[in-house]
Amino acid sequence: MEKGIFSGLEDLGFNDIQNIDLYERKSYIKEDIVQTENENKTDEGIYLYNKEVICPVCKSRLSVRAVKSTAYKVKGHESDLYVRYETINPYFYDVWLCNSCGYAAMKTDFEDIRKSQIEKIKNNISPKWKKREYPLIYDASIAIERYKLALLNYVITESKSSKKAMCCLKLAWMYREIKDTDNERIFREQAAIGFEDAYMNEDFPIYGMNVYTIMYLTGELYRTLGSNDKALKYFSNVVVSQACEKRIKDMALEQRDLIRNTMNTEDKPEKNIIKSEQKKSSSFISKLWGGR
Ligand SMILES: [Zn+2]
Repeated sequence: MEKGIFSGLEDLGFNDIQNIDLYERKSYIKEDIVQTENENKTDEGIYLYNKEVICPVCKSRLSVRAVKSTAYKVKGHESDLYVRYETINPYFYDVWLCNSCGYAAMKTDFEDIRKSQIEKIKNNISPKWKKREYPLIYDASIAIERYKLALLNYVITESKSSKKAMCCLKLAWMYREIKDTDNERIFREQAAIGFEDAYMNEDFPIYGMNVYTIMYLTGELYRTLGSNDKALKYFSNVVVSQACEKRIKDMALEQRDLIRNTMNTEDKPEKNIIKSEQKKSSSFISKLWGGR
């Protein structure tokens, strides 16, 4: 098996893309271990429906799987803003893919494409694209393939760092679902790099997140990667800001104290994602990117 960020896309026609640098800064080589998870699939279909959309690249009509709004029942949150749902994982269905031309993007970005980018896809994706049939119900492994296709499209079209970062963050979440910690870390690191670049160079809001939320998220990603100095810098900037809403400030305070406590006690730092079943910030985080 090929190794790298785009591993798994070889059978779809892309076998010469393993050395692409997402942000033209770094490259990573890691073994890709994708396991299939098939449990608890039986009822998922009732939360899904087909939706017709037009591909902005080749103008084909395509049918995409979509999650019914009634399926969004929040179960818990994790400290990097991953929202878990009770009935179905809507992140599995977040990438829309045109089987005619190979164009793929997260659904909120799907129609946000310029003429010059369409040409890049026609020249660099479509000639290589091999059609792919997916089952009606997706799982984390399918989602990983589809997010990687979207990521490849973002790279080919020279999209903004925020798009690549968000795609990488969701890839990290999907690898978390299948407990592939090595790949999860690779994509968390790429997300941190991308959100940091977006923080410095892009306008807000970014995917519904204001500047403080992006600062918190970047800090939290760096914390989980063990980059405590960078994490503290971002958390501290959130904590001292006058305009930041209380919920994000509280989250930054909590994670900042977590680092300080581990530093003081010289314990092994707790770098794991913090999981919460509490609903204290549910509405806020759900609004950010609940996948709708
Ligand atoms: Zn198309």
